[in-house]
Amino acid sequence: MGCRLFNLCEYETYKLVRIRSVKLGTLKWTLNGVILMFICFMMLWNKEYQEYDLITSSVTTKVKGVAHTNIPYIGEVVWDVVDYSGHSPERNSFFVATNVIVTKNQKQDKCPEIPPWGLCKAHMDCEKGFSDQHSHGVQTGSCVKYDILRKTCEISAWCPVESQKRPPRPALLASAENFTVLIKNNIRFPAFNYIRRNILPEMKDSDLKGCIYHQFTNPYCPIFRLGDVVHEAKEKFSDMAVEGGVIGIQINWDCDLNRFFHSCLPKYSFRRLDEKESNQTLYPGLSFRFARYFTMNGVEQRTLFKVYGIRFDVMVFGKAGKFSIIQLIIYIGSTLSYYALTNVFIDWLIGTKCYSKKANQNYSEKFESVHDQQECLLCISFVDEEQLRVVKKSQKKSLQETNPIFLHRWKNTLTGKRFLIVIQKRGQTMTPPVQIGQWSELKADGILSAKHSDVSAGTPLQEKPRSGYLDWCHCGVCHHSTSLHEQLCCRQSKGRCISTCSLFHVLVLNHSTLETALLYETPLAEQHEEDQLRHEAYAQYIKWRFGEKTPMDAVPVIPSCCLWRIRDQYPSPDGKYSGFKFH
Ligand code: ZN
Ligand code: ZN
Repeated sequence: MGCRLFNLCEYETYKLVRIRSVKLGTLKWTLNGVILMFICFMMLWNKEYQEYDLITSSVTTKVKGVAHTNIPYIGEVVWDVVDYSGHSPERNSFFVATNVIVTKNQKQDKCPEIPPWGLCKAHMDCEKGFSDQHSHGVQTGSCVKYDILRKTCEISAWCPVESQKRPPRPALLASAENFTVLIKNNIRFPAFNYIRRNILPEMKDSDLKGCIYHQFTNPYCPIFRLGDVVHEAKEKFSDMAVEGGVIGIQINWDCDLNRFFHSCLPKYSFRRLDEKESNQTLYPGLSFRFARYFTMNGVEQRTLFKVYGIRFDVMVFGKAGKFSIIQLIIYIGSTLSYYALTNVFIDWLIGTKCYSKKANQNYSEKFESVHDQQECLLCISFVDEEQLRVVKKSQKKSLQETNPIFLHRWKNTLTGKRFLIVIQKRGQTMTPPVQIGQWSELKADGILSAKHSDVSAGTPLQEKPRSGYLDWCHCGVCHHSTSLHEQLCCRQSKGRCISTCSLFHVLVLNHSTLETALLYETPLAEQHEEDQLRHEAYAQYIKWRFGEKTPMDAVPVIPSCCLWRIRDQYPSPDGKYSGFKFH
């Protein structure tokens, strides 16, 4: 019993329909083949069979080169690495100066402000102690001559104030494009404990000394000419040198650490990182100021440099992959669902009317439709009413009182007339011999199963009511029943019971009639049991009162009086009856 609870002893599985078709079979395997090829291709292309680790790396740089330049008011200057390669606060970058504005011999003094700031006409326009973020110094409160046309407020500042606003063009240090930089990049893949650097193990010292990186001819040389770097970033060095900018040097390591396909080489690429259109950004380029201080005649002085230059940021990306059986299994598992696409497609195909028509096959049987709640219609025939009633099975009312949903006018034509002929021929005989040809038509094929047996005539007729008063019985013969759908009388109004008429005995109860009907189906059977005769009697009654087919395929119901009359005649040996069963 516990087994039934919670469906513990049950297992549901799918029922499959196998369609024998060369076309569909070929289609299935073709689609599966295509899917398999796609999966294999994606696996090899994306190396899905590998497990991956991300890179950790460090970068150091060393810039080399000397520039010779002629700076206005200063003269010829030779710049070496200390001069032009400022220290950049970021770790993986270096800066190279390409242009400069020099203001020499500044000292603490009073001098006019640089237009357009601090323009004035009289002393009252200048405020003593005033300064803002554009000021080069603090105003003294007097208005002094700046040049022939303009006057500006006097300021206390490092004088003379830096006057040049725009960087020189062409850039003073444009020859920096010939500088070289050595980039050393050490990488590590922690998961595989793999260490490497961009100076490859097979490189010799002599190889390194002379080499310069080139995209095609020398792609693994770690020494780069700055002009080439800017060029590969699709920029012109001489233009970029004027205002400066930021160039990214990307090192990409895509390593395959499998034994047979081992490869782990750096791939360099370059691009400009800052906004390149000078007129589109308010503060273009890259510049900063620094000063060199010295003392002349006991007065501290300085030389101010405004330096423009290019910052090179070295960025390292990469991952390493190694074959992993677990990754392979996970990948295969994740691709299995693709095969369902074949089923989806073929199911769709055979579902289309076009294909079903072509294949002369209706595949709609593939789908079994089940209604949620089966509606049970019952058919009732009253002897005092001409029409057959179709009623819905009710849970509240007795069948006798259930209102019909449909009335069917029915006349038992051919078979009915033949009954009458038989009755007339046999006169008042209660048990007329039956002719096979006539009675066989009474057999209700398939309504109730029957087997043959040879049983002597039934018990004597009992027409007394079996119980006291029943409010739903009008013939007085019906039996008491607690089941609502057994509470059915043969009549609608008070009167004689149909089971007491002679035709009932001839057509339904007569032993020879039933025997003949059973023999008609299996002519050589010798014996018929009581059960078979009883079931045949039910069938005969239904045939008589309802005809071949009930309206709306409703289930015919035998009234209680007739049911028990038949049961009395052909009783069950153990006194048990299965009762009324719905489909
Ligand atoms: Zn009755
Ligand atoms: Zn009755």
